Amino acid sequence: MRCGVFGGSFDPVHLGHLILADTARECAELDRVLFIPAARSPLKADDPAASDRQRIEMLQLALGGNPAFELSTIELDRGDPSYTVDTLEALNKQRPEDEWFLIVGADSLVDFGRWRNIERICQLAIPLVGARRGSNADLDQLSEYVSPEQLAEVQQFAFEFPLIEISSTEIRGRVADGRSIRYRLPRGVERYIQTAELYLS
Ligand code: ATP
Repeated sequence: MRCGVFGGSFDPVHLGHLILADTARECAELDRVLFIPAARSPLKADDPAASDRQRIEMLQLALGGNPAFELSTIELDRGDPSYTVDTLEALNKQRPEDEWFLIVGADSLVDFGRWRNIERICQLAIPLVGARRGSNADLDQLSEYVSPEQLAEVQQFAFEFPLIEISSTEIRGRVADGRSIRYRLPRGVERYIQTAELYLS
């Protein structure tokens, strides 16, 4: 099986995440995509505002009905901080016959040099980078960490991704300001945020 791994805080999950994952799935012909909420991202200053349970429930609402999308709590079960290399080692051990791909937005690529053991990450999974339309220059940054053969594979699978100006930070800010978050995330997740009175301050 060809499996995509998509990690993030998902605080909350939004349409940018879902469109990125679906575009990666389509372009790399993935059989499934695992959405993996981080216990705590080593590169983020703050802990998630929503609880682990709330982030899981929002992801369940967002992913339901798509048989190719699955939620994995592997990082939440392991506790923090969440290093992608540990997650990929564990997944690879669980299912050594599978082929692994790591889905990342172009903005995350800028931070790649700060990811723990990025060379090993690239051995365990081929990065699938959603590059901004018309620019594949970003991928050259990876040449520091991967072999020329691996870089060729990364380039082969890089997919074009239109800029979608939605972030979890913006959604949390809008809720705190009493502004609309409609159409930025699935309706069920929007209702969940309202009912649970999440992100109000
Ligand atoms: P925050 O605003 O809290 O930092 P975020 O919206 O960036 O959160 P994360 O959960 O941290 O979301 O992101 C997980 C992954 O999703 C990252 O690889 C990031 O590049 C990607 N991503 C997030 N939002 C978008 C978007 N609008 N378009 C493309 N990729 C995105």
